Amino acid sequence: MYQTIVIGAGIAGAVAARALAEAGGGKVLVLERRGHIGGNCYDRPDEYGILVHEYGPHIFHTNDEGVFKYLSRFTEWYLYPQGHQVVAKVDGGLIPIPFNLNTLHLVYGEEKGSVLEKKLIDAYGEGSRVGILELKKSEDADIRQIAEFVYENVFLRYTMKQWGQTPEEISPEVTGRVPVLISRDNRYFQDRYQGVPRDGFTPMFEKLLAHEDIEVQLGVEAKERVTLTEGGILLDGEAFRGNVIFTGALDELFDCRFGRLPYRSLRFDFEHLDKNDFQGHSVVNYTVSEDFTRITEFQYLTGQTGCSGTTIVREYPFAYSGTAGEIPYYAILDEENKMLYEKYRGLTDGLPNFHLLGRLAEYKYYNMDVMVRGALTLAERIMEEKR
Ligand code: UDP
Repeated sequence: MYQTIVIGAGIAGAVAARALAEAGGGKVLVLERRGHIGGNCYDRPDEYGILVHEYGPHIFHTNDEGVFKYLSRFTEWYLYPQGHQVVAKVDGGLIPIPFNLNTLHLVYGEEKGSVLEKKLIDAYGEGSRVGILELKKSEDADIRQIAEFVYENVFLRYTMKQWGQTPEEISPEVTGRVPVLISRDNRYFQDRYQGVPRDGFTPMFEKLLAHEDIEVQLGVEAKERVTLTEGGILLDGEAFRGNVIFTGALDELFDCRFGRLPYRSLRFDFEHLDKNDFQGHSVVNYTVSEDFTRITEFQYLTGQTGCSGTTIVREYPFAYSGTAGEIPYYAILDEENKMLYEKYRGLTDGLPNFHLLGRLAEYKYYNMDVMVRGALTLAERIMEEKR
């Protein structure tokens, strides 16, 4: 009856399901463990009517015109006029993040700031992006001093909280997401499109999945329905010859037989305040103090107006242990973990119709737009093979 089974109704699964259904790939069964669609993008009004992101702030940003156009079929947007801007609380003040030439002037004052600005531009070129670890290696003592300031005040403690490791210990691609900008650009991302679905992510997912050839079943543990055997895939005990797109954690699928793949998890602490404004910014990073990494104030993230009071969320990172109810958010990208992941991936080698897609299943640090592109590409590949 079904040509494809998609496990997980997050961004990877929902886009892949839609793309296959629309391309005439036949009936798609989407199995979702949680009681809702949207994965970690899921948002909903809280008891005060304020739209909150249940699994932490998700800001869509992309330079991929095709991806933006594709999602725009399912939602209108609240695009941030000035882009997404983040500040960090340092010594009681707020400084723009990523650290950029505006931050430099704030920290060092106009006179010294101008001298240092020239040095940075001469060394790296105007408009360039420099990783903090690279900046620290500069031969120029003044630049090393800036790097030391940025390292101490932006990266070290935030990264220790987020990862339990120093910036040197984690994969450079992670801190590389937030480079030092040799420009006056205060935006957190440099992408053309930045914002959130105007009415929220969940309605966008509802539209994505609203197709006559897509059936979504919520609250279903896929492992109880889909079995991998030497010879192939079973659905409810019967041979299934279609494609399966798996977007969950791969180690769990195999009962963690080689040991658990390490992840970082987060605890979200929501608070509603009986005032109109808490911090005046959508996201404030706590880079030198506190146990939480950042506070998000939803009204600025979503552009929602007309509510009374304001809702915020604090994020407390911790090591994922696999205990029921914990959610694995971030893969920890070191060589040992990648090798362990490959061992699990190897277990799917003999199953050409079994596809791994997404942050969890591929053990990667994907942004939403890259995930949409990945899902579209996989759907195309599957359709090619059908022809
Ligand atoms: N980071 C930091 N200080 C900041 C912002 C980011 O140290 O103020 C580091 C930290 O290690 C973080 C990484 O840069 O995990 C990537 O940040 P990003 O905001 O991309 O993380 P996400 O929003 O995906 O959690």
